[in-house]
Amino acid sequence: MNAVALGIPQVGGAPSRSAYADGRGAAVASAPGRTDSPWLLDTYGRRARDLRVSLTDKCNLRCTYCMPAEGLNWLPGDELLTDDELMRVIGIAVRELGIEEIRFTGGEPLLRKGIVDLIGRVAQLTPRPEISLTTNGIGFARRAADFVRAGLDRVNISLDSLNPETFRQLTRRPRLADVIDALAAATDAGLSPVKINTVLLRGVNDHEAADLLQFSIERGYQLRFIEQMPLDAGHSWTRSGMVTADEIQAALAEQFILTPHGSARMGAPAELFTVNGGPSTVGIIASVTRPFCGDCDRTRLTADGQVRTCLFSAQETDLRALLRGGGTDEQIADAWRVATWGKLPGHGINDPSFLQPDRPMSAIGG
Ligand code: SAM
Ligand code: SF4
Repeated sequence: MNAVALGIPQVGGAPSRSAYADGRGAAVASAPGRTDSPWLLDTYGRRARDLRVSLTDKCNLRCTYCMPAEGLNWLPGDELLTDDELMRVIGIAVRELGIEEIRFTGGEPLLRKGIVDLIGRVAQLTPRPEISLTTNGIGFARRAADFVRAGLDRVNISLDSLNPETFRQLTRRPRLADVIDALAAATDAGLSPVKINTVLLRGVNDHEAADLLQFSIERGYQLRFIEQMPLDAGHSWTRSGMVTADEIQAALAEQFILTPHGSARMGAPAELFTVNGGPSTVGIIASVTRPFCGDCDRTRLTADGQVRTCLFSAQETDLRALLRGGGTDEQIADAWRVATWGKLPGHGINDPSFLQPDRPMSAIGG
């Protein structure tokens, strides 16, 4: 059975010959102009090396820019990939498709029971990928050492406010202290750099930009502001409501001297600035106002086994159907290659015809 027979969305014609003696790249020549490379390439010359794996769509916070207060339907349990299914897909990504970094995310990835075991299993893969985690930090502090022992290399912890009441209002849960503890525990466990992700909302926490940077500098954390994207479950994002990268930079410049960092973006989404002459830096991820799609090296796997080549993809490629329908590793790899070959040049947020994806950020994996 091949990817077509299993109903996998295809770009171009049917899979054809394999470009490699061991079968790698079997569908690579299926679309006009495709190369013989076994990697995850697209028609714009980009190669995906960074796989974001969503471990669950559930979360213990309810950030207003991501989830509704209540009423979101969870993915049915039998549709979620099991740990073994996840490991099979991740193994294919690393061995066959040249993925170099696995980032666990969600929803809240720490809610997945087997997460320590999954980190440990990924750390056994050859070649061994970088293993990172994006988390809201709830429950991280007491498990930080376990994660590192299992093989975690890097962590991003989300923190939008230093004020307990603003934090509660924004996340709808009174858990600021847990996040502060998580950051300290990450440093104590030897993770470096410890990165903080911050989304600023106008009139809510946008006055805290400088305070968050001061907090991060004093403790050695690397702060990155992320422009709010239209990925909330309530579809309430507005361009005028979004705090832009320029506004963030201007607010910081009132209290700090920011100098564009020599390494600029280097494939990473954040525009980096040295703060007060260094060594501290701050990043601003201008996903909306200065998109970095031309340098995108990401591919995503949802908790229910769908490949998305972009956060904003309108299409998904169903690897779960392949996994459960008897698909071979090569068929799974091919379906992924074909999906990647069809990756669009950009997210299109700024196009008049832009449509927000049906899935919210929490169900895609940020
Ligand atoms: N729950 C974990 C967390 O919050 O870190 C991991 C998943 S969360 C979806 C990943 C990141 O996406 C977080 O840093 C969060 O702030 C960010 N995020 C969520 N919704 C967003 C949106 N609409 N625009 C920009 N960033 C968003
Ligand atoms: Fe949960 Fe993360 Fe979304 Fe906040 S941003 S609701 S912590 S998944």
